[in-house]
Amino acid sequence: MVEQVTSPLLTKEKTEWLKAKIRDIPDFPKPGIVFKDLTTLLKDGEAFSYVIDVLTEHFKQHNAAYIAGIEARGFILGPVIAHKLGIGFIPIRKSGKLPYRVVKETYDLEYGTDCVEIHEDAVEEGARVILIDDLLATGGTALAAHKLLTKVGANVVSVGFVVELGFLNGRNRMPSNVEVVSILTY
Ligand code: AMP
Repeated sequence: MVEQVTSPLLTKEKTEWLKAKIRDIPDFPKPGIVFKDLTTLLKDGEAFSYVIDVLTEHFKQHNAAYIAGIEARGFILGPVIAHKLGIGFIPIRKSGKLPYRVVKETYDLEYGTDCVEIHEDAVEEGARVILIDDLLATGGTALAAHKLLTKVGANVVSVGFVVELGFLNGRNRMPSNVEVVSILTY
C-alpha cells in the first residue's frame, strides 16, 4: 500500500507550498470539524495543475480503463485526470441523480446515513478503475464507492486523494489489496 504519491516533483517545499493554499474552516459543517477548504487551492492555476500532474504521473503505471469520481468534489479532479490519461470518466453520484438503472450503497455518517449510486452497466467486467475524491477522512465514502465499483464488476486498482486526514485512519478501512494514495497528509 502506498502512503503518499512519491513523485520526484513532490519536495518538502512543494508540500508546504500546497498546504499553504488550503484554507482551514473551523466548526464547518458542524462544531468540532475543521473543514479543509480546497477552493483556495483550485483557484490557483499553478497549484491546481500541479496536483493534477502529480496524480496523473503516478496513475500512468496502472494502465486503467477508467477514472471514477465521487460527487461532488471528485467531479472536479477526476475528469481532468481522466482527460490527461486519455481514458473515460465514471460518475458515482448521490441518491436519485443517475437516470438509468443503478446499484446503491448506503453508508454511515457521524449522524445518520448517506447513499451513493452507480449505473449498473458503468464498467465492463474486470475493467481496471482508479477511484478519485478530494479528501479521505474516515473512509466511509471511499469504501462505499469501492463497494459499488466492485459490485458492478470493476477491478479497483487505486484510490487517490489530494488530502488525507491521517489521524482518522480512513486508509485502514479500504481493502488491503487496494493502493491508497494521497498528496498531502495531516
Ligand atoms: P469520509 O467518508 O469520512 O472519508 O469523508 C470524505 C468525504 O467528506 C469527502 O468527499 C470529503 O470531501 C468530505 N470531508 C470529510 N471531512 C472533511 C473535512 N474535514 N474537510 C473537507 N472535506 C471533508
